[in-house]
Amino acid sequence: MIEVKNVTKKYGNFYAVRNINFEVKDGEIVGFLGRNGAGKSTTMNMITGFIEPTSGEIIVDGYNIDHKPKKVKAQIGYMPEGTPLYSDLTVKEFITYMANLKMIPRKNRKEAVKKAIEETGLEKVQNNLTKNLSRGYKQRVSLAGAIVGNPKILILDEPTVGLDPKQVIEIRELIKSFGKDHTVFISSHILPEINQICDKIIVIDKGEIVAVDTPKNLEKKTTDKTVLKVVVDDMNNKFESLKSKVDEIKQIKFVKENEDKSKEYLVEADSENDIRRKLSVECVNENIIILEMSVSENSLEDAFIKLVEDRKEYSQKEVEKMQYNKEIEELREEENKRKEEKENRKQAIKEEKARKKAEKEAKKEAKNNKENNQDKGGNK
Ligand code: ADP
Repeated sequence: MIEVKNVTKKYGNFYAVRNINFEVKDGEIVGFLGRNGAGKSTTMNMITGFIEPTSGEIIVDGYNIDHKPKKVKAQIGYMPEGTPLYSDLTVKEFITYMANLKMIPRKNRKEAVKKAIEETGLEKVQNNLTKNLSRGYKQRVSLAGAIVGNPKILILDEPTVGLDPKQVIEIRELIKSFGKDHTVFISSHILPEINQICDKIIVIDKGEIVAVDTPKNLEKKTTDKTVLKVVVDDMNNKFESLKSKVDEIKQIKFVKENEDKSKEYLVEADSENDIRRKLSVECVNENIIILEMSVSENSLEDAFIKLVEDRKEYSQKEVEKMQYNKEIEELREEENKRKEEKENRKQAIKEEKARKKAEKEAKKEAKNNKENNQDKGGNK
């Protein structure tokens, strides 16, 4: 289990991550979603102990990373962003190197490397130099480096970035299979990518957590509609007329006609109701054959955009409030400065008066002393 408690990371005056709190429970696959620059890598680097938080606590499997960094690192397999491999090593050498870094005991090392190679499907290229591999294979090697030694927790930073759709599916399947007996924390800036493999999604924006929920709830909470993608064989062109037969349908949009004459539509409906059954029945009544029907991924992407956009408005208000407070603070500071200067001037005048008075008294005393001495001299 990973526990992140009130964690902040500042670079100078800039908050890369601000007072974040979340948990990744044992056996969960949790997505960490945010646009570029939102604070994902910073958070992951703190969990893996590469950088220290400015404040707050990180506990991994019961160990505080501050107090027991070695124990924490031994529990974690980390795949950093951008596959930083040592290009002059072969695949096997690189994974062995990672096994050494993780201090896997010598007697288990060979077996651990072999297992990681098998699990990531790298047997055929294990003796190739990593620099000669395709991007997809490089990503696999990086993943193998993370899983070698079978750590309890896997932290994967944008593992599918830069891959083609086929490679994305392969890596996604690999991650899904690790998720069966590992805790996985995986970041992405593309929602559909993690939506399909995660139990829970944590959304981060401008260094702050803006939502924690299941992909489905996240969608429900933030969209007021469900969008279905439907592909039909509709010889009589009746599909669009179904709008009047199913109350919940708000809109049916024609998207395209495919080569086989099937037609693709987007059907918008109230989010509360799953209209798939009703729609199927009406299609049967009208002799329309449904070839494909799925909840459009776009609606979840919309959910994310809405979450972040809402926050923008809020932030704008917050900024105005902060500016207002700042202006008042500046006015107060100016006022205090003026008071201080006035006080200083008063003090200076007082001191000057006291100095003059002391000078006058000293002169007077000197004069008295002189007169006394003259008197004494005259009396002699
Ligand atoms: P993400 O992984 O979500 O793309 P990062 O965690 O890499 O975002 O960065 C979050 C913010 O912190 C960005 O604005 C980035 O420019 C800033 N940042 C990251 N590392 C540093 C650093 N070493 N010094 C200054 N700013 C940094």
